[in-house]
Amino acid sequence: MYKSNLIESFIPDLTGLRRDLHKNPELSGKEENTARIILDFVSRFEPDEVVCGIGGHGLALIFTGKIAGPTVMLRCDMDALPIREDNGFSYKSVIPNVSHMCGHDGHMAILAGMAAVLSHHRPLCGRVVLLYQPAEETGQGASLILNDLKFKSLKPDYIFALHNLPGYPMGKVIIKPGSFNCASRGMVINLRGKTSHAAHPEDGISPAIPMCRIIDALSSLPSAPEINRFFSLVTVVYARLGKAAFGTAPGDAQIMATLRTENDDQMTLLVKNAIQHVKASTRGNGLCHEISWRDEFAAGINHDKAFERVKRAAHAIGIGVVRTKRPFRWSEDFGNFTSKFKGAMFGLGAGEDSPQLHNSNYDFPDGLILTGISIFLQIVDDILNLNPDKPEK
Ligand SMILES: [Zn+2]
Ligand SMILES: [Zn+2]
Repeated sequence: MYKSNLIESFIPDLTGLRRDLHKNPELSGKEENTARIILDFVSRFEPDEVVCGIGGHGLALIFTGKIAGPTVMLRCDMDALPIREDNGFSYKSVIPNVSHMCGHDGHMAILAGMAAVLSHHRPLCGRVVLLYQPAEETGQGASLILNDLKFKSLKPDYIFALHNLPGYPMGKVIIKPGSFNCASRGMVINLRGKTSHAAHPEDGISPAIPMCRIIDALSSLPSAPEINRFFSLVTVVYARLGKAAFGTAPGDAQIMATLRTENDDQMTLLVKNAIQHVKASTRGNGLCHEISWRDEFAAGINHDKAFERVKRAAHAIGIGVVRTKRPFRWSEDFGNFTSKFKGAMFGLGAGEDSPQLHNSNYDFPDGLILTGISIFLQIVDDILNLNPDKPEK
C-alpha cells in the first residue's frame, strides 16, 4: 500500500517532533513556541494556505483539491498541564512544573504526519484543514477559535478529533455514537456572614452549618429522580470555612464543586437544582451567597454520520474497534465544535497498563502516531478521495 509505506517513511521524523514537543511544553493560552515548532516542521510540506494566530496561538494548515467539494477539518490540541513530570527519559520536560501529561504532543505529531502525507496526496475535491487548537485543558480554546473571524472561511462540513486513552488495548479505536464525553462545569459558591467572638457565636452569622448542608445536598443531587435518568456526577473539590483561629467564629466560607453530565440539557437541569439548593440552605439565616462558574465544557456529542465515517475507516484499515456503552466522564472542548458541525471524536487505546492521563509519569506512546495518521487518512480519503499520485509542481 503506497500510503502505509509513505507514512512509515515519516515516522522517525514525527517521533522526533513528538519528543521535541514533549520536552518543550507550554500551558493553555501560551503555546507560542509550540506553534513555531509545528510551523518549522510542516513548512516543507507546502500547505496551500496557512492561517496563524487563530484563537490565540492556533494554526490551520489547508490542503486544497482541484475541484470544489466539502471541507474536512481534523483538530488537535496544543497545550500542556501544570504538572511536574516524573519521567526520567532524555526528552523529559525542561520547563519546571509543566508537562504534556495528556498526550497532546502525540496528537500534534499525528496532524503533522497528515500534512506530510497530504503534501504527496492532495484531495481530489474539497479541502482538508488541519487545525491546531490552543487551550483545550481550560475549556477556552475551542470557543476562542469559533469566535475568531479567521474561522469564518474555514468552516467544516465534517470535523474529527481523537484522544489517546490509557486503560484500553494499545492501538485499538474506541468509538461511541451520540454522547462521547460529559459536559462539565466548575461551581464556586461564596458564603458571607459575620464573624464574632467564639465565646459568643450567637452574635455573628456563621456559614458552618449551611456549608455542610450545601456539600451534602450537592453530592446527592445526581440521585434526584428528575436527574438520574442520565449519568451525572457532582464532586466537591474544595471547601474552606473561616480562619484557623480558636477565638473567632467564622464569617465566610467557600465551596467549589465540579458538575458532570452526559448531555447539555442534563447540565442545565443540574445547574438549576444546584442553585436552588444553595438558595434554600442560606435562606432566612442572614447569609449572603454568590455563585460563579468556571471551566465550562459542552458535552461531546458525536453526529451519526461522522460516527459512521470513523467506524467505517477503522474497519477498512483493519484496526480493532472497542465500542463503549457509557460516555466518558471527562470533558473536552471539542464538544463546542460538534454542537455546530457534523463531527465525531474517537479514542486510541494507549495500553491497559499505561499510567492514566494527567498522571505525572504519563508519556504518549509513539506507536500510536502511525495508527492515528492511518485512520485520519482513511476518513479523509473516504470523503474527499485523495490523489494517488504526487501532484506535479
Ligand atoms: Zn487533559
Ligand atoms: Zn487531553
